[in-house]
Amino acid sequence: MRLILLGPPGAGKGTQAQRLVRKYGIVQLSTGDMLRAAVKAGTPVGRRVKDIMETGKLCPDDLVVDIVADRIEQPDAGKGFILDGFPRTTAQAQALDRMLAERGLKLDAVIELNVDPAVLCDRIASRNAQAKARGEALRSDDDPEILKRRLEAYWNQTVPLIDYYRSRRVLKTVDGMAPIETVANAVEDALDGAR
Ligand code: ADP
Repeated sequence: MRLILLGPPGAGKGTQAQRLVRKYGIVQLSTGDMLRAAVKAGTPVGRRVKDIMETGKLCPDDLVVDIVADRIEQPDAGKGFILDGFPRTTAQAQALDRMLAERGLKLDAVIELNVDPAVLCDRIASRNAQAKARGEALRSDDDPEILKRRLEAYWNQTVPLIDYYRSRRVLKTVDGMAPIETVANAVEDALDGAR
């Protein structure tokens, strides 16, 4: 099973991805996590993206595409994967199409978690408060000003992908405002229809 989870920051992609990982035995590939790990480890890629990420802008397409191409070659991705946070631009989506075609693979579904922009900031604010209560450090890009920039990047650069995948007939839209369980069930129904 090869899936894309599409949705703005705070839409619940990570939560839903974890459930799908358990259910289907596939891996979750989060470009955000991979890039944060690179920054933390101080790799050449990490040094290139640190400032970009901290301002809430998108990292260069070629760099992110290379990271994903390497990652899907790993043996643990053999059974399939969920892409979380990738693709985020039309150029990335086209690169992914090429990557999959070269390997004789195809996407089973693209799941769009549809949420009201007004609730996103509230959700992220409460995610921040919970992390703080657990004594964890906040993600520096969860700062409200930077979050605004991440949302702008989403509306401007990622929303066009919804049409891109709709026209390829792989798009499934799920109401991301419902409780977690309800969203999870809707995602499963959408996937049952996709196979
Ligand atoms: P979000 O919580 O907004 O879904 P992520 O954890 O997926 O955020 O990503 C955090 C940051 O990492 C983004 O703001 C961006 O700078 C960078 N990033 C992650 N994925 C991509 C991508 N596919 N293309 C470009 N930049 C990316």
